[in-house]
Amino acid sequence: MTLLRRVYFEGAASRLDLAGGTGLSQATVGNVISELLRDNIVIETGQLDSEGGRPAVLVDVNPNHAAVVGVDVGESGAAIELFDLRLKKLAAVEEPLRLPRESPSSLVSRIAAGVNKVIKEAGIPPQHVLGIGVGVPGVVVHDGEEYVHAPSLGWDKIPLLQLLQTALPAPVMLDNGARTMGRAEMWFGTCRDARHLAVVLLGTGVGAAFFNDGTLYSGSTSSAGEWGHTCVVVGGRLCRCGAKGCLEAYVGAGAILERWSQRSRRPLPARRDEQHLLQDLVVAAEESKPAAAVLDETAEFIGVGMANLVNLFNPECIVIGGWVGQLLGPRLLPRIRETAAAQALRFPFSHVAIEVGRLGPDAVAMGAATLVVESFLANGGRGRAGQISRRDAVRQGGAMG
Ligand SMILES: [Zn+2]
Repeated sequence: MTLLRRVYFEGAASRLDLAGGTGLSQATVGNVISELLRDNIVIETGQLDSEGGRPAVLVDVNPNHAAVVGVDVGESGAAIELFDLRLKKLAAVEEPLRLPRESPSSLVSRIAAGVNKVIKEAGIPPQHVLGIGVGVPGVVVHDGEEYVHAPSLGWDKIPLLQLLQTALPAPVMLDNGARTMGRAEMWFGTCRDARHLAVVLLGTGVGAAFFNDGTLYSGSTSSAGEWGHTCVVVGGRLCRCGAKGCLEAYVGAGAILERWSQRSRRPLPARRDEQHLLQDLVVAAEESKPAAAVLDETAEFIGVGMANLVNLFNPECIVIGGWVGQLLGPRLLPRIRETAAAQALRFPFSHVAIEVGRLGPDAVAMGAATLVVESFLANGGRGRAGQISRRDAVRQGGAMG
């Protein structure tokens, strides 16, 4: 762990504590801190009066050293947020999108417009932005060159990173949205002390991120976490990926609404968007049996999916996020836990907590921004995010240790 990383995660500390905590000599710590102070990356924040001894000056990360941008690309809009180095939100805009109808180049123009707006709103020069992290639906393959596969959006090997890089004013880092949300949860969220964590994103699409001993589990082509496309009903409903019976074909926003329409035997109003319709469903469930049955069944499918995660990954904690997760999670949690308990092996289930994430709708964008901060910390605070090679950034993954 670099010294800067330690200061970032553990907060203000004296040089003596930093030497003790890192095993570095006091002289080395003194030299590194002097360099970081000179570059304005850390600041001295006050004095700690240590038990009768000489007061020690504390050192902390300078939140205003640089800004980072996080982008959450969803199917109906992109949330673009600008943060300080400590990931305090300074400005945010929402750019409407119409995926999958929108072409990748149009998506890139909209993101570029949003990034320029937040930089302007925050009143900072563009060169103050360390980097831009982007969370997208689909599989982001880091394989020398970087491209995105998202069958539900009709994207096949789209070089999105390259397109974004030419349009945006700072280095870009790209990952799947469930994985960026997972990073935010791991850094700041509900189960931040957990080392073995599953973070599930319930939205229009469904995905997950897994952390094994604090490190993001990526798989051979970085596509691990496609939980939404694991089968829960053999020969079941047709999924947007082309397979049958996927979890997403039951608990993705569109699938929940379709099941509601089928059970209540009436079409959904065409002009209302998914978010409003899902709110309508929650209200209707108070009185309507078909609506209540749809929500109950949704909780059962999520619970079964979670039991599979418990049996496969043995996490300490499963965090539910995404806009559908935020909307339905608190209401469905008891039923989700009950179903998961009935389906999972008893021993691993007795060691897992299932919670709704507390980071709210910002988690994907915030997590995308952590990609940039992660690279900055790993690099000891040198340069902008892009100056570290992408392969290094990928290899470092979400490691916290
Ligand atoms: Zn599928």
